[in-house]
Amino acid sequence: MPFENLNLNPLILKALEESGYTEPTPIQEQAIPELIAGHDLMASAQTGTGKTAAFMLPALNKLNDAPKTNSKGPRILVLTPTRELAQQVSAAATKYGKYMRNARVVTILGGMPYPVQNKLLSRHVDILVATPGRLIDHIERGRIDFSRLDMLILDEADRMLDMGFIDDVERIAQATPASRQTVLFSATLDGAIGKLGASMMREPKLIRIAAQTARHEHIEQRLHYVDDMHHKNRLLDHMLRDINLKQAIVFTATKRDADLLADDLLAKGYDAAALHGDMSQRERMRTIARLRQGGIRVLVATDVAARGIDVAGITHVINFDLPKFAEDYVHRIGRTGRAGASGVAISFVSGRDSLHVKRIERFTGQAIAAHVIEGLEPKFKPRPPAAKRNFHGKGEYRSPQRRSSGGGYARDRGR
Ligand code: AMP
Repeated sequence: MPFENLNLNPLILKALEESGYTEPTPIQEQAIPELIAGHDLMASAQTGTGKTAAFMLPALNKLNDAPKTNSKGPRILVLTPTRELAQQVSAAATKYGKYMRNARVVTILGGMPYPVQNKLLSRHVDILVATPGRLIDHIERGRIDFSRLDMLILDEADRMLDMGFIDDVERIAQATPASRQTVLFSATLDGAIGKLGASMMREPKLIRIAAQTARHEHIEQRLHYVDDMHHKNRLLDHMLRDINLKQAIVFTATKRDADLLADDLLAKGYDAAALHGDMSQRERMRTIARLRQGGIRVLVATDVAARGIDVAGITHVINFDLPKFAEDYVHRIGRTGRAGASGVAISFVSGRDSLHVKRIERFTGQAIAAHVIEGLEPKFKPRPPAAKRNFHGKGEYRSPQRRSSGGGYARDRGR
């Protein structure tokens, strides 16, 4: 189905054509008509599915309608859990709205100077993209007029809850007009997210794209057993020498390890840099800009800092340390294989991680094949081969009866 069938403004269609988009992704095809029809919406779609355009295109479309009042305040408000994601959402809004005259985008993030933000907010705003904490500060100081707000969008709502923003999100929603349209995107729609949605929406439409997106079919997932740190470092060195690896994100468990590993790689001659939450906003932005321009080949990052990074050149994601939660695994590997490209996701796994790997496989519904590099074989002899386990067909996992409580799987999902 072409974008032309979705009743979008021709100026938006022109920008899409320029972006090289030929047809909507499944989440766009389903969400855009519901949002244009004015419904509230709860959608489960992960990063890499085109979810940003799924809410941003109808939001921009809405700006064609006459505003409710003549105030200068935002008509669209997007809340995101992290600064990086906010910047990407803003960039998408600017890209898709570039031919519209009334699509002024303002981004309000923590870690940036107040005077600059005060100035931005004192002028006319159409689309406001913000992280919750800093936005609350401005609301409390009376700097934002929500009287003409048409649409409130919560992007990666599950992560906002995980990061403790629930009260802030609820307070922000209360500060906006009850007549608004409300949209929530989240990796999962269960539990607390369902409750949050129900508390702030009117008969929301539900869209779940999870099955297809969680599969990450264009990302090849590999697992390498490692004996110890020395073995890990040698394997990493081997991976980074691969000429097919254009750019990689290497994930570590801690900020300190990210710094240490980035220094180590630099010393070995790789164009490496670290990215984590202890760096200032300015440093983080500079690092991501260098990554995007190709000045960094290996980015060593922690989970939160790397969330939302959308750089087309990333061919490999390497889990130097496995993430704590299965959901983060999905977010990590989604940094590669962007915009339809293929990608490789490699995980280093020690003997102690076996149970954790199983949890990840259950969560994604996919088996991760173990690989061995000649000359770098592990001494550790892992689990039985895949055929003996509960997998069938092309690496698919047939879920056992889900436990209602207890086990790691349930815990990961409900987090
Ligand atoms: P997202 O899931 O919003 O992070 O988007 C993932 C990537 O897909 C981004 O690089 C978008 O620019 C790209 N994208 C979004 N929609 C389309 C589309 N309809 N066709 C091609 N690429 C798209």
